[in-house]
Amino acid sequence: MNNDATVVLFSGGQDSTTCLYWAKTKFKKVYALCFYYEQKHAREVEIACSLAEEAEVEFHQMDISFMAGLTRNSLTDSSVRMDEDKPDGSLPNTFVPGRNLFFLTIAAVFARERKINHLVTGVSQTDFSGYPDCRDLFIKSLNVTLNLAMEEQFVIHTPLMWIDKAETWALADLLGVFELIRNNTLTCYKGVPGDGCGKCPACKLRREGLNKYLSLNSEK
Ligand code: ZN
Repeated sequence: MNNDATVVLFSGGQDSTTCLYWAKTKFKKVYALCFYYEQKHAREVEIACSLAEEAEVEFHQMDISFMAGLTRNSLTDSSVRMDEDKPDGSLPNTFVPGRNLFFLTIAAVFARERKINHLVTGVSQTDFSGYPDCRDLFIKSLNVTLNLAMEEQFVIHTPLMWIDKAETWALADLLGVFELIRNNTLTCYKGVPGDGCGKCPACKLRREGLNKYLSLNSEK
C-alpha cells in the first residue's frame, strides 16, 4: 500500500478545497476526485477542475448522474423548491440520500486500484446541516464496512469533523489559501462562486463562519 498518496473527495467548495490543501501538507501525491450527479450547481465541477490544476494535483471526474433519478431533492430536481432553512425535526430537502455513501465507496474503489488506502473528506459534524452522512459515527461505520468489503485497511481522514465554519476559515488561513478559498471556490447551491448568492443554506453557513472568523481576527 502506498502511504504517500491520498484521494480527496473534491467538490470545489470551501470545505473540500481546505481539505485538498491540508492533504497536500500530509501526502506527496494527492488525487482530487470530483462527482457529477446532475447537481443544479454543476458549475462546481468546472471550478473544481481549475482549482485542482492550480493546486497542482491530479484531477478525476466521476459521472454518477444516475443518482439524480433515484430521489427527489432540491439539489438535483429543478421542480423542487429549495428549503432556505432546515425544517424542524426533518431533513432539509437539499439532502441527497446516500450521497456520501456513494462518494466514499467510489473513492475507495478508485484508491484501491492505485494501491492507496488514505481517503480525505470535508464532512463536519459541527456544522452538519442536519445531514446524517456528515456525522462521525457514519464515517467510522463506513470505514469498517469498506475494509470488510474489500479486505483493505482504508483510513478515512476528516480534518473538519470537529471544527466549525469559522475554524475552517482559520485553517485555510493557516494553510496560506484564505484568499484563494474566499474568492475562487463555489459553495453556493445556486452556483454563484466566491461569496455566493447569500441566501441559500450553504451560503448562509459559509458567510456566518466567515464573519465570525473575520471579527475574531480583528479583535486580536
Ligand atoms: Zn447561495
